Amino acid sequence: MKQLTTDFGNPIGSNQNSLSAGAMGPLLMQDYQLIEKLAHQNRERIPERAVHAKGSGAYGELRITQDISKYTKAKVFAKGEVTPLFLRFSTVAGEAGAADAERDVRGFAIKFYTKEGIWDLVGNNTPTFFLRDAYKFPDFIHTQKRDPRTHLRSNNAAWDFWTLTPEALHQVTILMSDRGIPASYRHMNGYGSHTYSFINDKNERFWVKFHFKTKQGIKCLTNEEAEKIIAKDRESHQRDLYENIEKGNFPVWSVKVQILAENEVEKLGFNPFDLTKVWPHSIVPLIEVGEMILNRNPQNYFNEVEQAAFSPSNIVPGISFSPDKMLQARIFSYPDAQRYRIGANYHQLPVNRARNEVSTYNVAGAMNFGIGDNLANGAYYEPNTLDGASENAKYLEPDLAIGNSAARYAPLDNDFYTQPRNLFNILPADEKERLYKNLAASFDGVKDEIIAKALAHFEKISPEYANGVRKALGK
Ligand code: NDP
Repeated sequence: MKQLTTDFGNPIGSNQNSLSAGAMGPLLMQDYQLIEKLAHQNRERIPERAVHAKGSGAYGELRITQDISKYTKAKVFAKGEVTPLFLRFSTVAGEAGAADAERDVRGFAIKFYTKEGIWDLVGNNTPTFFLRDAYKFPDFIHTQKRDPRTHLRSNNAAWDFWTLTPEALHQVTILMSDRGIPASYRHMNGYGSHTYSFINDKNERFWVKFHFKTKQGIKCLTNEEAEKIIAKDRESHQRDLYENIEKGNFPVWSVKVQILAENEVEKLGFNPFDLTKVWPHSIVPLIEVGEMILNRNPQNYFNEVEQAAFSPSNIVPGISFSPDKMLQARIFSYPDAQRYRIGANYHQLPVNRARNEVSTYNVAGAMNFGIGDNLANGAYYEPNTLDGASENAKYLEPDLAIGNSAARYAPLDNDFYTQPRNLFNILPADEKERLYKNLAASFDGVKDEIIAKALAHFEKISPEYANGVRKALGK
């Protein structure tokens, strides 16, 4: 049997009885073993994520089967390349103890441990988002969380915001459609959602969107099915993912991209960096790239899933950003949240650590394990004559042409209705009926004048849409 020790390795003689002055107490302050145990327990939790607090994770691999080297020089996309990865699924609005089978967008965050560093693709199970400017994000999230006075979630707040922010209608329609409650994490697609860039070995830039299509098939739950599951099991998605991977029933997604050359963006007829819009497949077809599999469960939920920290700022040569205003803000916001939540050296934790060699002049900070710093050869600053790590201009990206006047620009269009209409028109009749019912249910507790505003928006998507919701509301 192994010897039980303190956190510092000192052998423990008794883990049953605290040290007391006499059999009836009181306790002695010198019982450092008791104090260490209680003090550590007080520190077992780290700040919960403000969004995406409830999640599940698994390890797997990305396997590239097609040659897309004309678009990107990224090694992770070289034909035949196999890259280890960690994927964290999540709901967005609920707290860490929320039920998995709630109607919500799902997070689909992938950390690729590439040979050229960590690439994080922090996506969702929807190809779009509620907003196209992150300036509105904290307000939006307030409407999804609890009213500070009642401490209750508020449909009224959600719809008050959405009806005043009609660019959300596309995402709201997806959320209220069948796909708003996936049957499990295995049965949904993932999307990088934002437009990113690919850069090839000639330093040419292409705009790209990433798609992960479930090979398990899309399966969803109705509100009634979800309610029954939640009554008995708040961890239904976690259980499904964990048990299937344990059984060797590994979930698989096919990986596809949509690509636009820089001079092709006019084809779309709208801002290619507007996160509330998809790139229609008829204009930008999907290109098959490879396959992603999840095949290993984490050993320790806290260490590997709770401390997994994704940042869209983590890119590798051949993959980069776009001017998408939501993406630009997430490049700041995510690593900032991780530094707050975990600490300055969160990148040194095993689940977050790059698998290639890290060489940096960033040193010190809380919980520093010295991984990747250059101190070993005496170089703790740069430039130096100590043969320390140095830059290489081959990693510079091509210049990006941008407008030259800084201002608080309004979005380029106010077409809030075309793409929700395109989606509405592909929904089968029975799904349209469920969409109306789900929307009607979401109006529970919402003021009449806000419902009237929502119906006016639905009318502009399609009179059939508005009539269906009106009927479901009994109006
Ligand atoms: P298409 O008819 O070419 O594509 C429709 C796509 O919609 C499908 O490929 C499928 O994407 C997805 N879809 C199919 N059934 C449903 C459903 N019941 N609920 C939600 N999505 C569904 O037309 P467009 O490319 O013009 O897209 C039309 C609408 O489809 C968009 O406005 C958007 O709401 C939605 N959509 C579009 C995607 C895109 O990237 N173009 C991606 C996902 C949804 P998938 O195989 O990815 O599930």
